[in-house]
Amino acid sequence: MKTIGLIGGMSWESSLEYYRILNQATRAELGGLHSAKVIMFSVDFADMAAMQHVGNWADISDILVEAAQKLQMAGASMVLLCANTMHLLADDIEARISVPLVHIADAVAEQIKSQGLGRVGLLGTKFTMEQDFYRQRLIEQHGLEVVIPGDNGRAAVHNIIYDELCQGQFKPDSRQRVLAICQELVEAGAEGVILGCTELELLVKDATAAVPLFPTTRIHAEAAVALALG
Ligand code: GLU
Repeated sequence: MKTIGLIGGMSWESSLEYYRILNQATRAELGGLHSAKVIMFSVDFADMAAMQHVGNWADISDILVEAAQKLQMAGASMVLLCANTMHLLADDIEARISVPLVHIADAVAEQIKSQGLGRVGLLGTKFTMEQDFYRQRLIEQHGLEVVIPGDNGRAAVHNIIYDELCQGQFKPDSRQRVLAICQELVEAGAEGVILGCTELELLVKDATAAVPLFPTTRIHAEAAVALALG
């Protein structure tokens, strides 16, 4: 079994979920007392979020590259960034380590394609929904079409993520709002919706929508276990 390296704390609410899923998936595969081999480097998210919001991606890059290198030095055979947004810096990290970075958008795209879907909605932070690093990867490397919410929907999801979910608050009203935005994406032609923020599935939980929802924490963690045991 390979050792899985996690860069967590972004936020720790979802890092806990990564840890749980890694272990559950390993037990499901191997049975008995088996559990995942995991090393986590967890950051202080207040610092990271402040730098994101003033566009200081250079300093975040230095921190994440150093974390990834430390994970590799400690024996990790792969590195996972436990956040969709921070994949804005995936290329920087990949260039500075020699073990694979398991890209969250690739893992989710494989799931979407395996269900035969071509047009998907994307929910996440404004960085994830609006910038090219995530959408363009889905479009160019995976041949998917991507729809995102309008201005109000994007602002609502972004604010729910930073003001509530990353602070451990999971409110019924916000859950309804996110599900309503999913429905708007369905009406705009989405055949599935990516919960492209690692805390969103903690809010949405087992709610069903008119189309399949793609929980990125679960999908990313399960992809890592497949690689670790493969
Ligand atoms: N966990 C979130 C994500 O998956 C948001 C936190 C962050 O900005 O890194 O994007």
